[in-house]
Amino acid sequence: MSEKNQPISGNDLARFSGPNTFMRLPSVNDLEGLDVAILGVPMDIGTSWRSGTRFGPKEVRSESAMLRPYNLQTGAAPFDSLQVADIGDLAINTFSLKDSLRIIAESYDAILKHDVIPMAIGGDHSITLPILRAIAKRHGPVALVHIDAHADVNDEMFGERETHGTVFRRAYEEKLIDPSKTYQIGLRGTGYSSEDFTEAADWGFQQFPAHELWHKSLAYLGAKIRRDIGDMPAYITYDIDSLDPAYAPGTGTPEIGGLTTPQAMELIRGLKGLNIVGCDLVEVSPPYDITGNTALTGANLLYELLCILPGVTYR
Ligand code: MN
Ligand code: MN
Repeated sequence: MSEKNQPISGNDLARFSGPNTFMRLPSVNDLEGLDVAILGVPMDIGTSWRSGTRFGPKEVRSESAMLRPYNLQTGAAPFDSLQVADIGDLAINTFSLKDSLRIIAESYDAILKHDVIPMAIGGDHSITLPILRAIAKRHGPVALVHIDAHADVNDEMFGERETHGTVFRRAYEEKLIDPSKTYQIGLRGTGYSSEDFTEAADWGFQQFPAHELWHKSLAYLGAKIRRDIGDMPAYITYDIDSLDPAYAPGTGTPEIGGLTTPQAMELIRGLKGLNIVGCDLVEVSPPYDITGNTALTGANLLYELLCILPGVTYR
């Protein structure tokens, strides 16, 4: 196990020091030999309400220093079998959303030349469209597990077709995802019309509104989705605002009545066995995250995602 990269232990170097990489893993530029590449996409120019997700990668990495390598509850030991490193941040153009999305897609094209699973730390949700463009180019249309308070299926916002609220309509139109294998979990909030979400249901998206999940374990739902998807390549996009603002207040468009942290963990753990080809954790906004708890939760959910990737061994 020791030939694989290991996070720096809090017993070897105080947690408040060392590199600001995810779990204080090595920072690398060369993707050769990596199984998993963790990267930051520090931007918030695709957002419609509160900004601040440009600081997401920095703070999620910072809070990830608290994480230990072994998953005590599931037995997952991701660093025994996977070579994981932090490949830094994409050099987005903070003055242009359009150019930033181009940069993300081109960066992913380059990343996906390697046989590596990219895990992105956002950033607002607009980053997921160019990521899916590159993922679909490499893998074909993917199954999509989308955990979010919002369906993000607007046609346009202020005339713009590429924003954090239009991602999955574009992904559907561009055939980046298989609509019959697209799952939206945690939807809620006030709407503009009764059709806000239902049009996407007509495309085939399977929707699980938050109020139908209240007070329930989500282990069954994760397992059901995993069985339904089978072996096809799957992408997981985790919008932190799927959680109730009591658990994750530091985000741009909070909605009350959301998922609990244990539900999020159950859901992710239930998805174990999926053929995951990439994932992201988006919408952590540190300026609204007074205690750091949202970034801490985001770091833990990324770790839980890491623990269900193909090839992880269990002890
Ligand atoms: Mn979203
Ligand atoms: Mn959202």
